[in-house]
Amino acid sequence: MTTATTAQTTPTMCLRHGDFHVMDSDCWGATMDWYVDHQHLGDQASRDLYLAAVEREMLDNLIRSCS
Ligand SMILES: [Zn+2]
Repeated sequence: MTTATTAQTTPTMCLRHGDFHVMDSDCWGATMDWYVDHQHLGDQASRDLYLAAVEREMLDNLIRSCS
């Protein structure tokens, strides 16, 4: 019972919401779509680019919330 759970409790960089949080299936869907779109870059480069994209989204959120 305890090993088969898909519940995720570790916060992850979420591109969908531009946030660092525990992701739901929507968040994972957006993340997977993004990786599929960028898989030609290779593992390391796509990971780096993903983190950069989330950070940019986070900054955009911050700017939106301040204006
Ligand atoms: Zn999310």
